[in-house]
Amino acid sequence: MSAKIKVATTSLAGCFGCHMSLLDIDERILALVELVEFDRSPLTDIKQIGACDLGLIEGGVANAENVEVLRDFRRHCQILVAVGACAISGGVPAMRNSFALADCLAESYVSGIGIHNPGVPHDPEIPLLLNQVHPLHEVVKIDYFLPGCPPSGDAIWT
Ligand code: SF4
Repeated sequence: MSAKIKVATTSLAGCFGCHMSLLDIDERILALVELVEFDRSPLTDIKQIGACDLGLIEGGVANAENVEVLRDFRRHCQILVAVGACAISGGVPAMRNSFALADCLAESYVSGIGIHNPGVPHDPEIPLLLNQVHPLHEVVKIDYFLPGCPPSGDAIWT
């Protein structure tokens, strides 16, 4: 069994800015490689999560797939960290919470400025949107919160 800390990361309703901030640890990334092994993550492109010591999650919970992935991370990670404002409070994606979901869909696909191909898509491949965007801790137990938009590379390193 590996002596390295096994880490999984994912972006739910996020912009990947928190993941990009990880790269701001600069040359310390060489030390990181000695300390951790990445499991499921956009950094590895591994799609299924295995047993992990640490899960880092950016983004809010906006759709049914986000709920599924978040619960899967909770099941497989000993420690789960909400990384960034969207994961902690819903952040930018939760700005839609002030509006009815039907109005958001209409604005995006039917009546918004510059929409030329109207119609809300009904494709089973597209995850079902939740009525509201939720912070992670409203769906599963979160062990730690790392604030910022995004958290600094130094904060992530620490
Ligand atoms: Fe992007 Fe900021 Fe949200 Fe991170 S907290 S996913 S950087 S908007």
